[in-house]
Amino acid sequence: MEAVVDATDLEKRYGETTALAGASLSVEAGEVFALIGPNGAGKTTLVRALTGTTDPDEGTARILGEPPSAVDRDLLGVLPQEFSPPARLSARELLAYYAGLYDDARDPDNVLADVGLVDTGETWYEDLSGGQQRRACVGSALVNDPDLLFLDEPTTGIDPAGRRTVWRLIEDLADAGTTVVLTTHDMAEAERLADRVGLLADGRLVAQGPPEALVREHGGSSRLTVETAADPDAFADLEYPVERPERGRGRNPDNAVVVRDIDPAAIGAVVDYLEARDIEYTELSWAEPDLEDVYLSLADTAERERTDRLEGENEADDSDLARAGETA
Ligand code: ADP
Repeated sequence: MEAVVDATDLEKRYGETTALAGASLSVEAGEVFALIGPNGAGKTTLVRALTGTTDPDEGTARILGEPPSAVDRDLLGVLPQEFSPPARLSARELLAYYAGLYDDARDPDNVLADVGLVDTGETWYEDLSGGQQRRACVGSALVNDPDLLFLDEPTTGIDPAGRRTVWRLIEDLADAGTTVVLTTHDMAEAERLADRVGLLADGRLVAQGPPEALVREHGGSSRLTVETAADPDAFADLEYPVERPERGRGRNPDNAVVVRDIDPAAIGAVVDYLEARDIEYTELSWAEPDLEDVYLSLADTAERERTDRLEGENEADDSDLARAGETA
């Protein structure tokens, strides 16, 4: 059976900027696929290429068995990242308006209930909170009960309770067989919702797989964070590797060390070690690797490769210039 989303070697350039540099992915019917990656990685461009909003320069995309621009719009739901409906429509009117665009739409009041906006159904869009606005937008993308739903950052700006409402909604849709492709910066969201996650960096999907498989493969080991002013060298005799926390990890990375590859049963031995050597510490916390570790490690590697490549290109340019200078 053909995949519901099937993209091969998509490339997209905007002037000097390469937004997609050969992205391939395939999403099966009923799957929830989460695209994660740093700002500027190409997530929105990929969603736009898959929904027919932008044409790739190279490569092919098919959704629901057709080129994106040929797909029956009744089967497709799209929530773009930047979506601003008319300010002076109520949430109910907004959903009724979108329902009116389709041959066979859901009852807008049911959608209003699904996104948790029954009590604010009569409030003008401009008077809703940011999170309520985003939920109304999510609702507008699914009034047609689509077979395939694209959500570009569905929960950005939504408070934790509203975020859970949207999560449950996505889970219910997936249970009912809707295929969902979403982008997110929220690793907990990707981990909770996605059957598979694709990490996009520098226009390429550098890793794809079920969250737990990605964590096993790229997440590194468990870690015990010791909040202490002591240097990692003070832990030289400990039988586990000790380092500074990774960039972006820990509340105060300069005042913490991380003990790697340690299981919880061994924490007592570390406490004994600290006390035997009079190493002062304020807190110990133990954590399994998670998707955020995968993200930090792979995005970091991709960024280093990008810098190396750009430096390589600059050096090549410089030597071209030097050669041009010699021959001039
Ligand atoms: P993400 O969604 O992962 O943040 P985007 O797909 O928005 O990434 O952007 C990828 C790259 O392409 C960025 O460098 C961005 O500035 C550039 N880009 C995206 N859309 C356009 C556009 N319409 N015109 C020019 N550059 C663009």
